[in-house]
Amino acid sequence: MPEKTYDHNQIELKWRQRWQDAPLYKAQENSSRPKYYVLEMLPYPSGTLHMGHVRNYTIGDALARYKWMRGFNVLHPMGWDAFGLPAENAAIARGLHPRDWTLANIAEMKKTHHRFAFSYDWDAELSTCEPEYYRWNQWFFLKMLERGLAYRKKSRVNWCPECATVLANEQVVNGCCWRHVRTAVEQAELEQWFLKITAYADELLEDIRKLEGGWPERVLLMQRNWIGRSEGTEADFCLEGSGKPIRIFTTRADTIYGATCVILAPEHPLTSELVRPEDRERVRQMIEAQHRKDAADLEKEGFFTGHYAVNPYSRQRLPVWVGNFVLLEYGAGAIMAVPAHDDRDFEFCRKYGIPVTPVIRPVDGALAVEASMKEAFLEDGILENSGEFSGLASAEARRRMNAKAEAEGFGRAAITYRIRDWGISRQRYWGAPIPVVHCASCGVAPVPESELPVILPLDIRITGKGRSPLENVPEFMNVNCPRCGQAARRESDTMDTFVDSSWYFYRYCDPKNTRAPFDSGKIAYWFPIDQYIGGVEHAILHLIYSRFFTKVMRDLGLVTNDEPVEKLFTQGMVLKDGAAMSKSRGNVVGTEEMVERYGADTGRLFVLFAAPPERDLDWQDLGVEGMYRFLGRVYRFVTRNAGKVGQAPGRPDSKALRKLHQTVKKVTEDFESRWHFNTSIAAIMELMNELQALEPQLSASALAEILEKLVLLLAPFVPYLAQELWEELGHSGPVFRQAWPGYDPELAREAEAEVVVQVNGKVRGHILVPFGAPREELERKALENDKVQSFLQGKQVIKVITVPDRLVNIVVKG
Ligand SMILES: [Zn+2]
Ligand SMILES: [Zn+2]
Repeated sequence: MPEKTYDHNQIELKWRQRWQDAPLYKAQENSSRPKYYVLEMLPYPSGTLHMGHVRNYTIGDALARYKWMRGFNVLHPMGWDAFGLPAENAAIARGLHPRDWTLANIAEMKKTHHRFAFSYDWDAELSTCEPEYYRWNQWFFLKMLERGLAYRKKSRVNWCPECATVLANEQVVNGCCWRHVRTAVEQAELEQWFLKITAYADELLEDIRKLEGGWPERVLLMQRNWIGRSEGTEADFCLEGSGKPIRIFTTRADTIYGATCVILAPEHPLTSELVRPEDRERVRQMIEAQHRKDAADLEKEGFFTGHYAVNPYSRQRLPVWVGNFVLLEYGAGAIMAVPAHDDRDFEFCRKYGIPVTPVIRPVDGALAVEASMKEAFLEDGILENSGEFSGLASAEARRRMNAKAEAEGFGRAAITYRIRDWGISRQRYWGAPIPVVHCASCGVAPVPESELPVILPLDIRITGKGRSPLENVPEFMNVNCPRCGQAARRESDTMDTFVDSSWYFYRYCDPKNTRAPFDSGKIAYWFPIDQYIGGVEHAILHLIYSRFFTKVMRDLGLVTNDEPVEKLFTQGMVLKDGAAMSKSRGNVVGTEEMVERYGADTGRLFVLFAAPPERDLDWQDLGVEGMYRFLGRVYRFVTRNAGKVGQAPGRPDSKALRKLHQTVKKVTEDFESRWHFNTSIAAIMELMNELQALEPQLSASALAEILEKLVLLLAPFVPYLAQELWEELGHSGPVFRQAWPGYDPELAREAEAEVVVQVNGKVRGHILVPFGAPREELERKALENDKVQSFLQGKQVIKVITVPDRLVNIVVKG
């Protein structure tokens, strides 16, 4: 049979048409096969997929196809995080309705998904802006309200004047809006809805242990820091005169006799009470600055209020100050300053001439003298000048001090967290309405479950100014109170879109359910997600909120799993000219042009080949060309040899088969461990080189196995080409539903050389190394070998002589 020319356009078009309506990727219900749930993070429908997306989806797609070939029942769904600001901004800028803009973008992106043959079960598709979906957001909200996990409070909020909306703390980056990086965030005071994530702070932290090994270490570290648990002591310092307590939190109660002043956060309720009228403006400026910048970056400033408070342990009177580096959110919003044993306090007290009183000495040293102290002594040690606690070690002192506080009623052992409750109110239109009504007589009345969903009205004018656009829609706002029937007003805030994405992956398991968010039995089968794939930028927000939702759902009796995700993979970015692709930088490599020229298979192969998937990838057109030529070679090789298969068997070809089995082994291991698809693909390329070199001598029986396995190996990476060649080999049916090729470990191992290890010329052991392994590897393995080691005990290695693939001789003396 003559070889054919690789016409990617014709091949990809042909299969796209054949696959169009076939339910190829449908997950099966009631399957007895083991399940595998692979998921890429839900995209925001911005309109275009760039190569960064393609990389993310190709990794998931290759894995899904591999798992099918391994016999798993695979769930691989896709949906749309369809609510959110950009749709609303497009509406403001271009007069489009957010819904129209969103749906058009989804349609556009879906075309690209089809073009790249991503293997999604489109029957499970969901879009968070549809009432069938967001009614369950509202339902969860009502459940949380019932359990006291959703509540309302007046709070100072971050306000982006550009977005004209409230931002979550996490959306404030260096004091500016996360979208408008040069717009300073301002402060406003509003009644806001919160979800009580702090009720789960301990468990969220504790369960990080269950994720170890399956999640990247740095993501877990970021989550630990975000939750920010610290153990310490709460103690009340009483104001002289009024006797009002100032509660402080410290992790170092052992240093409390070294406290030389008390410092209040500018936002502390007592601050406005205590400061002199002439200092009020300073306080206001401090608050502004704290919200604009990270407190750690501020030059430390403060002033004395003129008041004193009493240290409950030492009975000393301490001046009360206000300081810009003390935050209301942390601990109790007030600190005792112990300059001798805290860096920050040291800096502050030296600046203002406040005394520095050392009370902890090193275990094997003397107590420092104030005048000679150049910096704080931070370590634990032995207490001095600390009344009844003098002479104790720090840890023991902390325990006894807690006990004393408790016994005398001025404090206790306490734990604080950095994590705050999650503010979910948004004064925006394009989001899920919060299902409550405000009634003059009943206050906040929840919308009855039977009346869900509270539908977002579509007839609306969006100006981008002021509070929620919904307030201008009387048909939406004016309702009768569900409790008393009197005229009332709906809540006009909508939910943070992170609510939508906190539970969407459960809905994929049962996307059409109209009676419940999902059927618990289906969740029991599919959860936890076996592999979740997405960007590391979601390490805290999305991934903590999802964990929180899962725990709430478990406590509602809806699911039995404690955690939603077994394994998390964070892929690197696709860079162009050293920077992440973005529209504003103008360095986006579109998919359209690339696919026209080289085909989707080439694009897929390139994003997998160019770098290990966890690393950033620098886009180079040159590499694309090379991938395209490689696929052409595979195509021509298979087509010109396909006809020779099945002829009388000849001599078994061990060299080619050995290389084949080694390659199968390598690719299999890559899928099962680190996903270094770049090395998998390199191995397949090497295999091709060897096969072409041996081509004239290949026997018919060897060819049969070689061609088949080569095509199967390529199936997860380049589905169009693999399917076409599968047909060329005379087979039918989807190639990725064939069994994954096996390998003979014996045959695969033949490439290992058995190397003799001698010690002073006598044979003492053998090691196996790949043929051609470098000298260093031989040496290392020889020296690590257990048998050999026993002959090296107590001796000194003088030199090591290495003959590649053959021998290592270790010369020792002593
Ligand atoms: Zn903004
Ligand atoms: Zn009422």
